[in-house]
Amino acid sequence: MKPRVACFEGPDGARIYQLPLRAFPHLVVHAYVVLAHGYAALIDVGSGSPESNADLEAGLAALRDTWGEAIGWADLDRIVITHGHIDHCGGLGFVHSRCDAPVAAHTFDLAAVRDHGAYLAAQIPAQAAFLRWAGVEPARVAELARAYSTLLEPLPGSEVTTVLSGGEVLDGRFAVIHTPGHCAGQICLRFGEVLFCADQLLAVTSPRLTPALLEPHNGLAAYLAALDHVAALPGIRLGLAGHEAPITDVYGRAAALREGHLSRLDQILELCAEPRTIVELAAAIYAELANPPPPLITAQAIAARVEYLQSLGALEAVGSTEAPRFRRTSLVWTRSIL
Ligand SMILES: [Zn+2]
Ligand SMILES: [Zn+2]
Repeated sequence: MKPRVACFEGPDGARIYQLPLRAFPHLVVHAYVVLAHGYAALIDVGSGSPESNADLEAGLAALRDTWGEAIGWADLDRIVITHGHIDHCGGLGFVHSRCDAPVAAHTFDLAAVRDHGAYLAAQIPAQAAFLRWAGVEPARVAELARAYSTLLEPLPGSEVTTVLSGGEVLDGRFAVIHTPGHCAGQICLRFGEVLFCADQLLAVTSPRLTPALLEPHNGLAAYLAALDHVAALPGIRLGLAGHEAPITDVYGRAAALREGHLSRLDQILELCAEPRTIVELAAAIYAELANPPPPLITAQAIAARVEYLQSLGALEAVGSTEAPRFRRTSLVWTRSIL
């Protein structure tokens, strides 16, 4: 597949090129090249898979050959990583084998960006404890952990030279907005009237959430606060996300995503008239999907909502309130009597 590069207008004559990369067999991620009067930035670098690296290489070649831009690896002044998920940052080692542009990423995602393989390997015990807590059978948890660890390959990362915290203006061009919930160190970048919105807002799907109990700074409360932050930015005319189509109505999309979360919360509260584990809730909620996502994803999505409802006092755990990481059995959730 030849990547179909798309071009968008940025402020003051800047050009933004969207490079679609085959991050994984069923997942296309977007990298962006921003060209602004002699300045060149690459936003996100793909997964580091052979296909993703080849598409990135072909995308840059298309900028020269099809779009007439005098740009090559050596011309990049900056690499920005929007968040520490592998589809966005896994290609960093490959990119740094081609150029030495300085890398900017949020302080909460430094470990994931610097050495993604080691970061993922270190997550396995916590993920296994989480799945048990969520109600996955212990034998199945062990099976999933084994399967997951065999998938992990060492993935060269790279040093982050510019550590972001949100609120700064990077290179005098990009206003950095910290948007956790999906990923602890996720950032959106405002570039004039354009918002690089990473996986905070997607045109079609609702970004998956990581519960705060599994990874601090995440969860639904953080995601909704970040959504409000983005929706309060004045004058955004275009959202360019990490996946899916450009978003022409960022404010409308933010409102729709919020609405979708609220109706999901109602659904969970209704189901919890009877005590249920996270896995039972996920099975009921994702029953309508022909190909539901894997249990770790669905359990995380439901847990992010359950912990949110618990924080509001609307749901409670039956039995122990032991810390989830140290539990060996699952928790059962029920509606609180308000
Ligand atoms: Zn992501
Ligand atoms: Zn993504």
